[in-house]
Amino acid sequence: MDCLFCKIINGEIPSNKIYEDEKIIAFYDINPEAKIHFLVVPKTHICCADKIDGSNSHLIAYIFEKIPELAKKSGITNGYRIINNCGEDSCQSVKHIHFHVLGGEKLPEHIR
Ligand code: AMP
Ligand code: ZN
Repeated sequence: MDCLFCKIINGEIPSNKIYEDEKIIAFYDINPEAKIHFLVVPKTHICCADKIDGSNSHLIAYIFEKIPELAKKSGITNGYRIINNCGEDSCQSVKHIHFHVLGGEKLPEHIR
C-alpha cells in the first residue's frame, strides 16, 4: 500500500522517533506548527477517524493513554493541544489516522 506512515512504521522512510511499541509509533512532525509538535500513529492502517469502530477503538484509547507520557517525554510541561484531521474538508493530507500533539509554547486561542 502506498501509505507514507505505513512506510515510516516499517522503516522504509526514516523519522525522528520519540517512542515505539508493538501498537503505536510517535515521531516529530517534519513541518512543526509549534515549538514541540509530534504525531502519534497506530501501526494498524486506519484511514481516518471516520473508520474508528469496535474492532480498532482500543488502539485509539491506547493512544490517548500514552499521550500524557509522550508529552512529558518530548519536554511539554504546561499543556498541549491534540488535533486530528479527518477527511477532505479537514485537509487531512496523510490518509493513515494520526493525532497531532502540539505544545512547548502558548498556542493561538483559536484554530480553524
Ligand atoms: P494531516 O494534514 O493531519 O494529515 O497531517 C499530516 C502531517 O504529517 C503534516 O503535519 C506533515 O507535516 C506531516 N508529515 C508529512 N510527512 C512527514 C514525514 N516524513 N515525517 C514526519 N511528518 C511528516
Ligand atoms: Zn498506512
